[in-house]
Amino acid sequence: MNHTKSEQLHAEALEHIVGGVNSPSRSYKAVGGGAPVVMVRGKGAYFWDVDGNRYIDYLAAYGPIVTGHGHPHIAKAIAHAAETGVLFGTPTEHEIKFAKKLKEAIPTLDKVRFNNSGTEAVMTCVRVARAFTGRTKIIKFAGCYHGHFDQVLVAAGSGPATLGSPDSAGVPHAVATEVITVPFNNKEQFTLAMEKWGNDVAGILIEPIVGNFGIVEPHKGFLEHVHALAKEYGALTIHDEVITAFRFHYGAAHTMLGLTPDLVAMGKVIGGGLPIGAYGGRKEVMETVAPLGPAYQAGTMAGNPASMQAGIACLEVLQQPGIYEEMDRLGALLEEGILAASKKHNVTITLNRLKGAFAIYFTDVKVENYEQAENTDGEKFGRFFKLMLSQGINLAPSKYEAWFLTTEHTEADVEETLKAVDYAFSQ
Ligand code: PMP
Repeated sequence: MNHTKSEQLHAEALEHIVGGVNSPSRSYKAVGGGAPVVMVRGKGAYFWDVDGNRYIDYLAAYGPIVTGHGHPHIAKAIAHAAETGVLFGTPTEHEIKFAKKLKEAIPTLDKVRFNNSGTEAVMTCVRVARAFTGRTKIIKFAGCYHGHFDQVLVAAGSGPATLGSPDSAGVPHAVATEVITVPFNNKEQFTLAMEKWGNDVAGILIEPIVGNFGIVEPHKGFLEHVHALAKEYGALTIHDEVITAFRFHYGAAHTMLGLTPDLVAMGKVIGGGLPIGAYGGRKEVMETVAPLGPAYQAGTMAGNPASMQAGIACLEVLQQPGIYEEMDRLGALLEEGILAASKKHNVTITLNRLKGAFAIYFTDVKVENYEQAENTDGEKFGRFFKLMLSQGINLAPSKYEAWFLTTEHTEADVEETLKAVDYAFSQ
């Protein structure tokens, strides 16, 4: 497969765009380097690069492209927005229609607010939790990603239930000490942290199903324990559903799990591919937000007509019967085929799957927390990634990023993918 034009463009990008990419996860640094493939066009489950190569897309833009590229229903909605005005800076009916649609699908949302990214949605939830409780500390879980604002770029301290330290240059130490990071799926560590800091904790921020070190489901009873202790100590539960909302069924993950978080952050899928974030939750908590309450959140582009109409159209597609069942069915075929190929070629992997999303880990350990995901073989994954790319299969360039199916993938795509996996493992 020839990548000459991608390589030339990447060299040019390096001259003008820091690192040649507009988000670090797009670089191939974690897979042994090289020029990231430059795409020009997408349709359905495929996209094409500048050199004319076609790929089956399992990146789905890190989640949002759940209906594939250029879905006609969403394209029509975006075209309508382009023709009738993409931004007014005033209320529109679209945002009311979309808010109602989200609330119908996710009954825990008494009130919602739209903004422009997952980062903004989570950032505001943290502020609202602090404003509502009058407390400052936040508990989060190792390996869960919540965007790039200061409070969530904090790593675990050096021992159990210690305060955090900055995970990025530029994050003040004072900010990091307001954040406590504990391992996912570890009741004991969470309990310890609450015993030590619980009365100062404003919010517990969690991905109810982790989508940021592959796909990791909570142990039975883990989230229930988190919710029970949050209640006992008067801290709010904040579910980061930026990846999970409308990924596994028509609604939120917490609905599937039977939980009632105080606040929910969303993004990705709900924008139909356009920039979006949204947060919502319990009425009393949401009424802390300006103009009703003292917690400020605003946005020039917030609730813009283009994102609203694309989002509504996307949910309309996802509402059709059988959509999630088909992604689950194809996911199961991929899981079965990949595991069979790993056996055939003696390649040690484990695989976590929930419906149309899964992750392959180069390890013999079932991954249930971040440490286990971190300890998988990145060098092997890097080789796998490049072999798959050479066969026209595009994955995220990270050893524990999820593969996402879309409504447009077919059984023929699965077969083509499994042939590529067989080849990659044989190498
Ligand atoms: N939360 C989660 C769970 C995410 O996966 C992401 C993005 N990967 C974010 C928040 C941040 O969203 P955005 O990139 O839209 O700011």
